[in-house]
Amino acid sequence: MDNTRPFDVIVVGGGHAGCEAASASARIGAATALVTMAASNPGTMSCNPAIGGLGKGHLVREIDALGGLMGRAADESGIQFRMLNRRKGAAVRGPRTQADRKLYREAIGRLIDAQSGLLVIEGEVVDLLVEEGTCRGLILADGTHLRAASVVLTTGTFLGGVIHIGDQCYPAGRAGEAASNELAKRLRALGLATGRLKTGTPARLDGRTINWDAVGRQEADPEPVPFSLMTDRIDVPQIACGVTRTTMATHRIIRDNLRRSALFGGHIEGVGPRYCPSIEDKIERFGDRDGHQIFLEPEGLDDDTVYPNGLSTSLPEEVQAELIATIPGLENARILQPGYAIEYDYLDPRGLEETLQSRAMGGLFLAGQINGTTGYEEAAGQGLVAGINAAHRALGRSSQTFGRGDAYLGVMIDDLVTRGVSEPYRLFTSRAEFRLSLRADNADLRLTPLADRLGLIDADRRDRFTKLKTELDQARALLMERNLTPNEANRHGLTLNADGRRRSAYELLSRPTIDLQILSTVWPELRAIDRKAAELVDIEAAYAVYTERQKSDIASLDRDKAISLPEEIDFQTIAGLSTELVEKLKNFKPRSIAEAAKIEGMTPAALGLLIAFTRRHG
Ligand code: FAD
Repeated sequence: MDNTRPFDVIVVGGGHAGCEAASASARIGAATALVTMAASNPGTMSCNPAIGGLGKGHLVREIDALGGLMGRAADESGIQFRMLNRRKGAAVRGPRTQADRKLYREAIGRLIDAQSGLLVIEGEVVDLLVEEGTCRGLILADGTHLRAASVVLTTGTFLGGVIHIGDQCYPAGRAGEAASNELAKRLRALGLATGRLKTGTPARLDGRTINWDAVGRQEADPEPVPFSLMTDRIDVPQIACGVTRTTMATHRIIRDNLRRSALFGGHIEGVGPRYCPSIEDKIERFGDRDGHQIFLEPEGLDDDTVYPNGLSTSLPEEVQAELIATIPGLENARILQPGYAIEYDYLDPRGLEETLQSRAMGGLFLAGQINGTTGYEEAAGQGLVAGINAAHRALGRSSQTFGRGDAYLGVMIDDLVTRGVSEPYRLFTSRAEFRLSLRADNADLRLTPLADRLGLIDADRRDRFTKLKTELDQARALLMERNLTPNEANRHGLTLNADGRRRSAYELLSRPTIDLQILSTVWPELRAIDRKAAELVDIEAAYAVYTERQKSDIASLDRDKAISLPEEIDFQTIAGLSTELVEKLKNFKPRSIAEAAKIEGMTPAALGLLIAFTRRHG
């Protein structure tokens, strides 16, 4: 059956990548379809009920700044907002919230339903329509043909998915949902490079059977900070989590049964996430310590299900029950659903352009866990970029990519398409070389003007952003216009170097001991600055010296990237390069500084040596 009405863009999968991709594409004005196995599943959280965190929170802010869904949905469903690393610098603070699973799904569902130009179609995609090497649409299990100029695949853990619990295994995309086997076969047959990865999830517990008096508590922040520029305040009731620890008895049970774990018993060939290890992994790698911390996270306000964060496992169900009973507070906890590991196909992201379009097949875009990443935020970020570019391709517009100096989105996609993955990829702030500039607080300032040019945001967001930007500009001007000599500062109780130099109030904010509140005692008119603008200008001024330096580093990196390396270069003769890097350079044979910069482990110092060598011998 050929559905004659072609779409501009078809997105396959209603997970975090798919929803952002479909919404972005429709916001831009492309006629978009979202095809997913169950029309009720958009926004389903397969694993932990939480959004954000270190690095991931930055992504949520960037997605929001580009008009995306995740931040708004998290604000409507967040039941425990916490700013991680609050005492550290603003660049590495990580906004996070635990989310009510049902409320999150409903919020995403509402946003998808309200989006004009976006049609949700329930069905399983079993094949791609490929003509002359270009993807022109897809085929559903019922034989329907759907045509489009661009197709975005965001099938998560479903391609060839196999669930493992102990030595039991069965095909599934995640608990209770069928795997996507036909499409997996077809993608392999098309010659796209695939591999196997795995991830795991803990058992779910009945909160009514947990002894909450025997465990510690972790409270939400007293003043929850929303993710989205569009949210004035969080109205969802905030709850506390429980905190407990594994014991020596837990570890003994795990050790005694290690060979029965799907992860250790040789049943799984895929590589697992180093940064989200199973409890078996933790005991093997880090030993007993004084126990491993477990957070008991309620999955919703009117849901008794509890997610024991830190207990991911693929041990047999009866062993899971035994080990859980050795953890304080969980002695009588009832298991609602056992933990499991899932193994699935991913497609090598090195086969993608920075737009997330396949190099081998025009019209085919890939985003999310299918590209070897893990996490809702990583998936959503890629979905947004793939959705923009799929729509641009369909509408005949030029592509839109993000650099490493622009956004964490750029860092992640550059890492994926140039280095590939050897284990599920997760974003960290440490992956960004320009992290002092790429802060969560300034995501709107960095990206919303671009989103406006691309047609990704509505008038409401434009107005809010313009208001914020005006207030920030005014605050900056107020601070720049006011200044003090060290003697004048002294009279106000501020200690400065006695060099006689006048310093602006803006400059004074770069000192760790001075903030806007202190300066308001000198210039009371500063109290009139809007709260949000005050917070932004305070952080901006504190980082100003470093971000200026980073701007010139980004500019010079862009310039130097164009330098080509001589074809016959003996890296061993370059003094100062480590043996490890010499080996990598020999294998990788970069043709330019840009290519050399992408080698894993490459440092700015080593790049400097290469640039100097090339200038001498080039
Ligand atoms: P998904 O959210 O998986 O969505 C895929 C969508 O595609 C679904 O809507 C599905 O119905 C649809 N679909 C698939 N095939 C087809 C088809 N052929 N036709 C139509 N529709 C199709 N992340 C972490 O950060 N930490 C963790 O500890 C963690 N543990 C996890 C444990 C498990 C068991 C699982 C399953 C996932 C875990 N994740 C974890 C990963 C997290 O769930 C994913 O990274 C995230 O959901 C990926 O989003 P996605 O949009 O790529 O895919």
